Amino acid sequence: MASSQSTLSPLFSAPPATSLQIAPTTSSDEESAYIDWDNLGFQLMQTDYMYVTKCSDDGIFRQGQLNRYGNIQLSPSAGVLNYGQGLFEGTKAYRREDGRVFLFRPEQNAIRMQIGAERMCMPSPSTDQFVEAVKQTALANKRWIPPFGKGALYIRPLLIGSGPILGFAPAPEYTFLVYACPVGNYFKQGTAPLNLYVEEDVHRASRGGAGGVKSITNYAPVLKAMKNAKANGYSDVLYVDAVNKKYIEEVSSCNIFLVKGNVLSTPIAKGTILEGITRKSIIDIALDLGYTVEERLIEVDELFSADEVFCTGTAVGVAPVGSITYKGQRIEYKISSDQLCKQFYSRLVGIQRGVIKDERNWIVEIE
Ligand SMILES: *Cc1c(COP(=O)(O)O)cnc(C)c1O
Repeated sequence: MASSQSTLSPLFSAPPATSLQIAPTTSSDEESAYIDWDNLGFQLMQTDYMYVTKCSDDGIFRQGQLNRYGNIQLSPSAGVLNYGQGLFEGTKAYRREDGRVFLFRPEQNAIRMQIGAERMCMPSPSTDQFVEAVKQTALANKRWIPPFGKGALYIRPLLIGSGPILGFAPAPEYTFLVYACPVGNYFKQGTAPLNLYVEEDVHRASRGGAGGVKSITNYAPVLKAMKNAKANGYSDVLYVDAVNKKYIEEVSSCNIFLVKGNVLSTPIAKGTILEGITRKSIIDIALDLGYTVEERLIEVDELFSADEVFCTGTAVGVAPVGSITYKGQRIEYKISSDQLCKQFYSRLVGIQRGVIKDERNWIVEIE
């Protein structure tokens, strides 16, 4: 493991952030930030530090450093601004009842970023470098990690083509940056069941595209469909495949599962869905609990006969679906406290909180 002693540079690369949400920086790192922990949503809040490192020709990222959170300088001709050469990740740091802080499978985010970087012609940080950067960012912003049970510190790694380029080509320099923000519920409705709208005209991904990696280019093109769905009272959009418009794929930022009897089904990942770490973990948990899991093509019509449908993602957790609207028909699902997704989620949370044995080494303690 690389040396973890990155300096909290007193020569900040950006002026200290001046948001009112920031408590005086002279306060101890142990002192909790001045925020209302009981009403956390998913709004951006400036925290204290961000981790930054760069690489150029050799493709090797230098030892990064923690800078004050703030604006970064980019050339107007930066690759990311002109040609969308960028990837993001999302992971969370959780505080346990005893105050210790943990990450959940951060090396999976590192590997996913490496796969994405290869697809987008970018160099990527090593797994150790990535995990170290995530840990340092969480630690430097420790006072922003919500108290036990109140949420988590969402950690957002970015990999961008920061070097200037005019003709269409990979950027000459890359920046790996990690910032963080305390979060509670992802959806405004809190933990209420999701109401999804099946979108048939706008597609998120197609074979051969970049839908299977967390490329920044996958998101703006579906904003319009999502905005429309929200304006009509839905929580989010469920996308279908671009070729047949017949198979379900995923929701804007989470994966989807169907339950029928003791079989759990989820769309197979063939480059058009983002393979979530939560998805992967729920599959393992379901297998552990004795359920059958199928990764396969799932027709929209199967939604009509499912016992239960739910979504998974780092940001949303495991969220039950209350209804799905398809071609003007609304399919409703019974929501109950003993439904399977709640069982799976409580096992996942139990592992994260340390009350269920972490047999697969999913949990990484910080410090
Ligand atoms: C990030 C993301 C997910 C969920 O992935 P997790 O690793 O579980 O957080 C699902 N779909 C899309 C499109 C995503 O961007």
